[in-house]
Amino acid sequence: MDSGILHEYAIISEIVSTVIQEAEKHGRLLAVEEVLLEVGELVFLNPEQLSFSFDVVKKDTVLEGAKLTIHAIKARVHCTHCNYDGKMDYAEEEGWHYRLPVFTCPECNMGIDIVEGKECIVKTIRLILDDDISEEGGTCSN
Ligand SMILES: [Zn+2]
Repeated sequence: MDSGILHEYAIISEIVSTVIQEAEKHGRLLAVEEVLLEVGELVFLNPEQLSFSFDVVKKDTVLEGAKLTIHAIKARVHCTHCNYDGKMDYAEEEGWHYRLPVFTCPECNMGIDIVEGKECIVKTIRLILDDDISEEGGTCSN
Protein backbone atom coordinates (compact mmCIF):
# COMPACT_ATOMS: atom_id res chain seq x y z
CA MET A 1 0.00 0.00 0.00
CA ASP A 2 1.76 3.11 -1.24
CA SER A 3 -0.68 5.51 0.40
CA GLY A 4 0.36 4.07 3.76
CA ILE A 5 3.24 6.53 4.02
CA LEU A 6 0.80 9.44 4.34
CA HIS A 7 -0.15 8.24 7.78
CA GLU A 8 3.46 8.03 9.00
CA TYR A 9 4.20 11.39 7.39
CA ALA A 10 1.29 13.09 9.17
CA ILE A 11 2.35 11.67 12.52
CA ILE A 12 5.98 12.65 12.06
CA SER A 13 4.98 16.18 11.00
CA GLU A 14 3.05 16.55 14.21
CA ILE A 15 5.89 15.13 16.30
CA VAL A 16 8.47 17.39 14.67
CA SER A 17 6.41 20.53 15.33
CA THR A 18 5.86 19.46 18.95
CA VAL A 19 9.60 18.87 19.38
CA ILE A 20 10.39 22.27 17.85
CA GLN A 21 7.98 23.93 20.29
CA GLU A 22 9.57 22.10 23.22
CA ALA A 23 13.10 22.79 22.02
CA GLU A 24 12.50 26.50 21.56
CA LYS A 25 11.71 26.84 25.25
CA HIS A 26 15.43 26.39 25.81
CA GLY A 27 17.12 29.70 25.16
CA ARG A 28 20.54 28.20 24.59
CA LEU A 29 19.46 25.61 22.11
CA LEU A 30 21.90 24.94 19.29
CA ALA A 31 20.34 21.86 17.82
CA VAL A 32 18.32 18.77 18.54
CA GLU A 33 20.54 15.71 18.65
CA GLU A 34 18.11 12.86 19.00
CA VAL A 35 14.43 12.15 19.26
CA LEU A 36 13.46 8.91 20.92
CA LEU A 37 10.07 7.69 19.86
CA GLU A 38 8.19 4.84 21.46
CA VAL A 39 5.80 3.14 19.09
CA GLY A 40 3.46 0.42 20.23
CA GLU A 41 3.13 -2.51 17.87
CA LEU A 42 -0.64 -2.04 17.75
CA VAL A 43 -0.26 1.42 16.25
CA PHE A 44 0.86 -0.30 13.05
CA LEU A 45 3.33 2.36 12.03
CA ASN A 46 6.12 1.33 9.74
CA PRO A 47 9.50 2.28 11.32
CA GLU A 48 11.18 2.69 7.94
CA GLN A 49 8.48 5.03 6.76
CA LEU A 50 8.67 6.93 10.03
CA SER A 51 12.42 7.40 9.56
CA PHE A 52 11.96 8.39 5.93
CA SER A 53 9.28 10.92 6.84
CA PHE A 54 11.46 12.26 9.64
CA ASP A 55 14.33 12.91 7.22
CA VAL A 56 11.98 14.83 4.93
CA VAL A 57 10.19 16.85 7.61
CA LYS A 58 13.27 17.82 9.64
CA LYS A 59 14.91 19.69 6.75
CA ASP A 60 15.55 23.39 7.50
CA THR A 61 14.44 23.01 11.10
CA VAL A 62 16.35 22.86 14.36
CA LEU A 63 16.04 19.08 13.98
CA GLU A 64 18.05 19.01 10.77
CA GLY A 65 20.93 17.08 12.33
CA ALA A 66 18.79 15.01 14.65
CA LYS A 67 18.60 11.27 14.66
CA LEU A 68 15.30 9.45 15.09
CA THR A 69 15.44 6.41 17.33
CA ILE A 70 12.38 4.21 17.39
CA HIS A 71 11.70 1.82 20.23
CA ALA A 72 9.06 -0.73 19.42
CA ILE A 73 6.80 -1.44 22.38
CA LYS A 74 5.39 -4.93 22.56
CA ALA A 75 1.72 -5.21 23.25
CA ARG A 76 0.65 -6.26 26.72
CA VAL A 77 -2.89 -7.23 27.51
CA HIS A 78 -5.00 -7.90 30.54
CA CYS A 79 -8.01 -10.16 30.82
CA THR A 80 -10.62 -9.22 33.39
CA HIS A 81 -12.18 -12.67 33.17
CA CYS A 82 -9.27 -14.93 34.12
CA ASN A 83 -6.77 -12.25 35.19
CA TYR A 84 -4.33 -13.16 32.42
CA ASP A 85 -1.70 -10.50 32.11
CA GLY A 86 0.98 -10.60 29.46
CA LYS A 87 1.68 -10.95 25.79
CA MET A 88 -0.95 -11.03 23.10
CA ASP A 89 -1.62 -14.04 20.99
CA TYR A 90 -0.79 -13.92 17.31
CA ALA A 91 -2.25 -15.61 14.32
CA GLU A 92 0.22 -16.53 11.61
CA GLU A 93 -1.10 -15.66 8.21
CA GLU A 94 -0.18 -18.30 5.66
CA GLY A 95 1.91 -16.81 2.88
CA TRP A 96 2.28 -13.46 4.57
CA HIS A 97 5.30 -12.19 6.38
CA TYR A 98 3.48 -10.80 9.33
CA ARG A 99 1.51 -12.01 12.26
CA LEU A 100 -1.82 -10.58 13.22
CA PRO A 101 -2.53 -9.85 16.85
CA VAL A 102 -5.50 -11.70 18.26
CA PHE A 103 -7.75 -9.50 20.35
CA THR A 104 -8.93 -12.23 22.67
CA CYS A 105 -7.41 -13.75 25.78
CA PRO A 106 -4.84 -16.51 25.12
CA GLU A 107 -6.08 -18.34 28.22
CA CYS A 108 -9.85 -18.11 28.12
CA ASN A 109 -10.68 -16.55 24.74
CA MET A 110 -12.67 -13.69 26.24
CA GLY A 111 -12.21 -10.05 25.38
CA ILE A 112 -9.05 -8.34 26.58
CA ASP A 113 -7.92 -4.90 27.56
CA ILE A 114 -4.87 -3.47 25.86
CA VAL A 115 -2.45 -2.34 28.57
CA GLU A 116 0.49 -1.43 26.36
CA GLY A 117 1.13 -1.28 22.65
CA LYS A 118 -1.22 1.45 21.47
CA GLU A 119 1.04 4.36 22.24
CA CYS A 120 3.10 6.56 19.99
CA ILE A 121 4.97 8.97 22.19
CA VAL A 122 8.07 11.10 22.17
CA LYS A 123 9.98 9.61 25.09
CA THR A 124 13.15 11.69 25.05
CA ILE A 125 14.50 14.68 23.18
CA ARG A 126 18.25 15.21 23.39
CA LEU A 127 19.20 18.82 22.92
CA ILE A 128 22.54 20.40 22.24
CA LEU A 129 22.69 23.55 24.32
CA ASP A 130 25.23 26.32 24.09
CA ASP A 131 27.12 25.90 27.35
CA ASP A 132 29.66 28.55 26.42
CA ILE A 133 27.19 31.30 27.07
CA SER A 134 27.42 31.70 30.83
CA GLU A 135 25.46 34.91 31.14
CA GLU A 136 22.64 36.51 29.30
CA GLY A 137 24.12 39.18 27.10
CA GLY A 138 27.53 38.40 28.54
CA THR A 139 30.58 40.51 27.98
CA CYS A 140 32.40 40.21 24.73
CA SER A 141 35.94 41.55 24.83
CA ASN A 142 38.71 41.14 22.34
ZN1 LIG B 1 -8.77 -14.63 30.08
